[in-house]
Amino acid sequence: MAKPPVLTPRADDFPRWYQDLINKAELADNGPVRGTMVIRPYGYGLWERMQQEMDARIKEAGAQNAYFPLFIPQSYLTREAEHVEGFAPELAVVTHGGGKELEEPVVVRPTSETIINEYFSKWVQSYRDLPLLINQWANVVRWELRPRVFLRTTEFLWQEGHTAHASREDARDYAAHIHRDVYADFMENVLAMDVVAGRKTVRERFAGAINTLTLEGMMGDGKALQLATSHELGQNFAKAFDTRYLSKDGGQEYVWQTSWGSTTRMIGALVMTHGDDNGLRVPPRLAAVQVVVVAVKEDEAVLAAVRELADRLTKAGVRARVDVRTDTPFGRRAVDWELKGVPVRIEIGPRDLASGTAMLVRRIPGGKEPVSVESLPGLLPGVLEADQALLLAQSRERRISRTSEVATFDEAVEVATGGGWARLPWSALGPEGEARLGEHGVTVRCLVAEDGSVPAADDSPGNVAVVARAY
Ligand code: AMP
Repeated sequence: MAKPPVLTPRADDFPRWYQDLINKAELADNGPVRGTMVIRPYGYGLWERMQQEMDARIKEAGAQNAYFPLFIPQSYLTREAEHVEGFAPELAVVTHGGGKELEEPVVVRPTSETIINEYFSKWVQSYRDLPLLINQWANVVRWELRPRVFLRTTEFLWQEGHTAHASREDARDYAAHIHRDVYADFMENVLAMDVVAGRKTVRERFAGAINTLTLEGMMGDGKALQLATSHELGQNFAKAFDTRYLSKDGGQEYVWQTSWGSTTRMIGALVMTHGDDNGLRVPPRLAAVQVVVVAVKEDEAVLAAVRELADRLTKAGVRARVDVRTDTPFGRRAVDWELKGVPVRIEIGPRDLASGTAMLVRRIPGGKEPVSVESLPGLLPGVLEADQALLLAQSRERRISRTSEVATFDEAVEVATGGGWARLPWSALGPEGEARLGEHGVTVRCLVAEDGSVPAADDSPGNVAVVARAY
């Protein structure tokens, strides 16, 4: 009799498969308060690698890390009218502290534009203080009504960038720079995820922004997921918080601002993009463990060979670790590494030793073959790069094969509700058509220009709306 599958197959029930994978790969558990999560060490390790790669790119873009308080006076939120309207339904508000009712309730930050502007208005005096480029790694709370682990949680971890510039052009260019050279670069080159870069329609914009740039990824079931956003805030917060500077010609001007964020949602995206019926597949450039060298059974010579190979791999620049838990059956350990998606497994047993070979098991393309142990340190860097490229190609292929060019509202709805993405001229939809899409459970994920670039305005000629169901 065939063994029961480790996970619910994707084709049977995609959401169940996702939950199964999160549990069995030991990525996270649900927290006791609805919508919260416990990120387990293996899941947190993925986040740490994401942080390292992103942080390097953020610093390369000139921003410095800082930290602002978790608690924000409630009155700050109300200063920017659209911002408070957008965030009010999601706020967690603290009314009591130290056993007493607070004079002014405080909000647990849902995002930090307001509190950061309070300080920007003190720090920015003249044009010489600009641009001011700040990033914060933190947790935020948004009271989500339809939570789903990693993708939409009540508390999540993120980075949020906040910048102030002397001109609208400078702010616009910086928001685009982050979108392209931090977010898109990280997603394609580290997460191996195909992304569509575009601008949000007015309806989907961040509350308080004048423009929102987004990256949208296609998940394994054809639904879209917003992966990261970069906003031009115009002077909205500058006016609300009186963030002004002395210009070169001696006048007082409001600064122009950006903000941009990416979150632990990316872990969920990784699962839904690269996962298969056997578990996760981690892109080699992200993986904290790229290669696991497994001792098939307890045997002194085997253990020594396993350790020696792992050392040689480390010296060759491969992130390797050993699995010498020989008191756990080999089959169970193999299933566990498959679930966790470590890109390459090298299995060494007594018989392999005798012949100087090991079993090379590749999680990403699948398959196993015996190879000479001697050749592995030279071979593996190339194998890992090939697997990295394969994941990106598969993700791109999925998006291309499930995207259709359509001409009408009805066709767009049909494609999107059928699990694909529709590309519809924006001129055939417009804000009124967009509002009606909601009745069908689909949205405009973003607008893109004819040549695939990010349009300068919603109504630029030739704009195409990408219409899909989304998480
Ligand atoms: P925002 O500040 O609203 O632009 O959010 C920044 C990014 O956070 C979005 O692009 C989403 O990818 C992500 N995000 C928004 N809400 C959540 C949530 N509840 N859980 C996880 N990630 C989220």
